[in-house]
Amino acid sequence: MAEILVLIDHAEGEVKKVSFELLTLARSLGEASAVWIGPGYEAVADKIAEYGPAKVYVAADSELTEYVVAPKVEVLQQLAAGAGAVLVAATGEGKEIAGRLAVRLDSGVLTDVVGVTPDLVAEHSVFGGSVIAHAKVVKGTPVIAVRPNAIALEAAPGSPAVEQVSVALSDAAKGAKITERVVQEKGERPDLTEASIVVSGGRGVGGAENFKVIEGLADTLGAAVGASRAATDAGWYPHQFQVGQTGKTVSPQLYVAAGISGAIQHRAGMQTSKTIVAVNKDPEAPIFELVDFGVVGDLFQVVPQLTEEITKRK
Ligand SMILES: Cc1cc2nc3c(=O)[nH]c(=O)nc-3n(C[C@H](O)[C@H](O)[C@H](O)COP(=O)(O)OP(=O)(O)OC[C@H]3O[C@@H](n4cnc5c(N)ncnc54)[C@H](O)[C@@H]3O)c2cc1C
Repeated sequence: MAEILVLIDHAEGEVKKVSFELLTLARSLGEASAVWIGPGYEAVADKIAEYGPAKVYVAADSELTEYVVAPKVEVLQQLAAGAGAVLVAATGEGKEIAGRLAVRLDSGVLTDVVGVTPDLVAEHSVFGGSVIAHAKVVKGTPVIAVRPNAIALEAAPGSPAVEQVSVALSDAAKGAKITERVVQEKGERPDLTEASIVVSGGRGVGGAENFKVIEGLADTLGAAVGASRAATDAGWYPHQFQVGQTGKTVSPQLYVAAGISGAIQHRAGMQTSKTIVAVNKDPEAPIFELVDFGVVGDLFQVVPQLTEEITKRK
């Protein structure tokens, strides 16, 4: 069985959920091997083992995380000889790694992938999600960047073999050094891209103050809060919570859109959500083409009632 390498995305001692999704996918394609770069593997070894890699390559040298993406590319390049494919998260960093790695391996890269068949045909989402394309790398070891939340998690606990890896970094890989890392303050709510429920507000919310209504429902459901670009551009909610083509991609079990029209660029970031509920006072709003459950009404009446009803039933 071909070895499928999965680059584990982690920060501040926490493994990103997308890494477990990639391990789940890798197991369906061949023998999954996780690649951990940087210190701290021991603290999360059990969590990674839950998702069934046969092997974990650990490149623990802290120097590897002192520079931007190039060292990660060199580690993967060293391991990729003979691998069936390399999977990375389709995040900003992941896509940069994927592109550079494919050049080094003289192979092909596919990005924004939302699924891969066992014969390595990738389904990827293009033009803001309005077109699904199938593509296959036909030269060398495929490098595939998979979107967070595109793959349903499936645990398969195991005891992977651990192999320590050392890499002599080239001078080129040391070209850009990270001088400081600032950890963004995290609130009580789950991370937007990892949450199983997201409640988002749009221009219909009408102002920063009114986002309390959205937050109220989100907190009752234990959900993350999202926003349309209209709302973030207006300064009503921080940009880091923007959902869509130029924001975050989410794929929760439940997505609630309140006062959002459903523009294609917004849909690109949430249309793979399992259940979509919209509240909009315009029955013709395009978001209703997408929903499992739609409420035509004023969000300031509907959302507080919904929050109250859920609170009562808890
Ligand atoms: C290159 C590019 C990239 C973009 N990227 C993104 C992106 O990442 N994410 C994104 O969201 N957008 C993005 N956009 C913008 C996108 O095209 C839309 O302009 C934006 O999504 C609209 O946001 P909205 O739905 O909140 O506002 P609107 O389209 O103005 O819709 C507001 C909705 O609220 C409803 N409403 C008003 N009052 C109420 C009320 N009281 N109760 C209930 N409903 C009410 C209205 O009926 C309306 O449907 C991008 C655009 C471009 C060109």
